[in-house]
Amino acid sequence: MTAQVGIVGVAGRMGAELVKTVGTEGSAVLAAAVDRPGGSAIGKDSGTLVGRHANGIAVSPDLRAVVSGLDVVIDFSRAEAVATTADICAEAGVALMIGTTGLDADAQRRIDAAARRIPVLVSANTSLALNVLLELVRRAARALPDSYDIEIFEAHHRHKVDAPSGTALVLGQAAAEGRSIDLERAGLTGSTPGARAAGTIGFSVVRGGDVVGEHDVRFLGAGEQLRLSHIATDRAIFARGALAAALWLVGRPANRYQMADFLFEKQ
Ligand code: NAD
Repeated sequence: MTAQVGIVGVAGRMGAELVKTVGTEGSAVLAAAVDRPGGSAIGKDSGTLVGRHANGIAVSPDLRAVVSGLDVVIDFSRAEAVATTADICAEAGVALMIGTTGLDADAQRRIDAAARRIPVLVSANTSLALNVLLELVRRAARALPDSYDIEIFEAHHRHKVDAPSGTALVLGQAAAEGRSIDLERAGLTGSTPGARAAGTIGFSVVRGGDVVGEHDVRFLGAGEQLRLSHIATDRAIFARGALAAALWLVGRPANRYQMADFLFEKQ
């Protein structure tokens, strides 16, 4: 079966990656493309918009007008748009993959409401390998004694404004879950003078050059270190992971899923 895929935020950086990725996936076809009402992309062919051949799917300002007949919608747009996407997909009975970040409490509540009617997967990082890393970090933190210090190192390009990265914080959360501790209390950002307090999860940040994204989780014990690393070199990984998860969602029961559900329960 070829899944009919809709993309919300199609004119953005991730939208462009998704259009290209869907074009190379034999089991999916782009059937709807949506972006912000009033934006310069509206009405344009979504294939030529991303520098590919015309695909006959014009960019629409209204998901409701194009949602009928879709199997799954992938949203990489803006946080303010996501609740409306969730409402529309729930009404139409169409599965939803959300990669958009920065969702507020209202969006979360409406996603939860939608997930009672349709399958929804929300992930702030859709890289497949990064999500495997999360599980490895959780397990390593659970298995190793608390005497092993945990340090999360991340490096990004010189233009990134937030630090530590959202992904570093999610890795810290996974380590804290593995140890059954609270990251709010155990998290340590910046260097503090004096000896390191036991049981802390530290964060180290480097900014420079054009680094797409590096994350390194270190478990530092007496006489040994375990290092688990992920290096991103191309943002297409996020589109590939999002599409794979979106196709996995099609036909699932209504629920709110995570990437781990897809990665570890798909077999
Ligand atoms: P972008 O600014 O390049 O693109 C966002 C697009 O959404 C734009 O084309 C914009 O016009 C459109 N948009 C805005 N309001 C809209 C609305 N109401 N309806 C429809 N479209 C609307 O941003 P980006 O770099 O492509 O990132 C998009 C989102 O994905 C961000 O939240 C970003 O943090 C997130 N992201 C997630 C991952 C992941 O792995 N999950 C990876 C990269 C980026």
